[in-house]
Amino acid sequence: MSQYDYDLFVIGGGSGGVRAARMSAGHGARVAIAEERYWGGTCVNVGCVPKKLFSYAAHFAEDFHDAARFGWTVGEPSFDWATLRDNKTAEIERLNGIYDRMLKAAGCEVLWGRATVVDPHTVEINGQQITADKILIAVGGWPFVPDIPGKEHAVTSNEMFFLEELPRDIVVVGGGYIAVEFAGIMKGLGVNVTQLYRGPHFLRGFDDDIREHLAVEMRKKGIDLRFNCNIDIIEKKGTRLVADLNDGSQIETDMVMYATGRRPSTRGIGLEEAGVELNDNGTIPVDEQFQSNVPSILALGDILGRIELTPVATTEGMAIANTHFAGKPTTVDYNYVPSAVFSQPPIGSVGLTEAQARDEHGDYIDVYLSEFKPLKHTISGNEERTLMKLVVVRSTDRVVGAHMVGPEAGEMMQGFAVAMKAGATKAIFDSTIGIHPTSAEEFVTMREVKRSAAKEAAE
Ligand code: NDP
Repeated sequence: MSQYDYDLFVIGGGSGGVRAARMSAGHGARVAIAEERYWGGTCVNVGCVPKKLFSYAAHFAEDFHDAARFGWTVGEPSFDWATLRDNKTAEIERLNGIYDRMLKAAGCEVLWGRATVVDPHTVEINGQQITADKILIAVGGWPFVPDIPGKEHAVTSNEMFFLEELPRDIVVVGGGYIAVEFAGIMKGLGVNVTQLYRGPHFLRGFDDDIREHLAVEMRKKGIDLRFNCNIDIIEKKGTRLVADLNDGSQIETDMVMYATGRRPSTRGIGLEEAGVELNDNGTIPVDEQFQSNVPSILALGDILGRIELTPVATTEGMAIANTHFAGKPTTVDYNYVPSAVFSQPPIGSVGLTEAQARDEHGDYIDVYLSEFKPLKHTISGNEERTLMKLVVVRSTDRVVGAHMVGPEAGEMMQGFAVAMKAGATKAIFDSTIGIHPTSAEEFVTMREVKRSAAKEAAE
């Protein structure tokens, strides 16, 4: 019998923490999990899931428009925010209940409250001290708002899911996933949207052709997208907000939303006192077994500062359960992690950007590009265009990057990620027969090299 109350104590009931708890219990470990806010964490409550539901809602505006040229008369569409918000909340509450039941069915002890670390084998929750052989920190992150005068007038993605009413206009600050997704959602729901990004081009880290194509499409849809632009001060004037911009101009608006990144919630929970080393930005350095410098304290998910995506956190949770409680040492392969940005239109992406491929492979890179009007829009009257791109290393013929902006990009990219992880070459893409008529077939019919360059030639 172990000297501890539990084999594993998980702090944080988000996607990663819940997966690690359930899987470890499934391997026979005695597990407790503590959560202070909601089961499912950011993704289920104020992230991926409700965001995707909002994204569907936003797209109906275009669908009603596009329907007319296909012969449908839909009348004057009108939108009721409260219906969407409340149906979304009901669905999220249903999911919260499922998480609770799944944890209990797996045999985990479920504890409500804020848990803190006391020492390498002890946590405290609701005034009670509990011991565990291993403690897993899975606390995730929280939106960060830069310290500017008037920041208290701004909202973040957290509040967007519960707004009393929709604003008439909104200024979205930031150029990452959340900013572009909410800019598209708000525009689709009928709000006038201005998006500000501090640098020369948003979505830093994505392929340049993809970034440029999305900017063109977002502007076509009427989003006022401004680069090299940021807010210095926000002031409240009656019911309106006035934002002073760094170019000397002002914007008056109902709402300012900051989507300027998220910070790990690792401070103030006893980690440093227990001897756990944190990086300056609050992330926790861990080894291949997800152990911090204090070996009994493990960590996963957004607080590692690796890839802030739910499926990455759940994969890490399974690796932890296998390694520590099933005697099956398991590492996580962070190569070819596909992702989607649910912008309007969406981005799907896997592997290296063209620039990364040039940097990482001391060899010629061949780029295949296809930009076209999807079949549906040949008669819908919708001006949206799709972009697809493959990045290939010439010497090995390996496809190392696949990127797309267009409908169902996320759905499409999952299968290509499997092929690319398996080492698919361009010859294999070329010999694969397309599905006609789809946009996806374009990925197996691109024959003409658009650009070729090696690292030296690229700059
Ligand atoms: P990101 O890190 O993706 O983007 C943050 C943005 O804010 C960047 O454009 C950044 O600019 C900008 N920024 C940072 N600090 C400031 C500042 N002080 N003033 C002005 N602008 C600033 O964060 P998000 O909040 O969008 O999303 C967090 C993470 O959540 C993402 O990285 C992603 O991993 C995950 N996520 C995934 C989704 C999906 O899979 N569909 C959806 C939503 C989130 P710069 O580039 O110049 O640093």
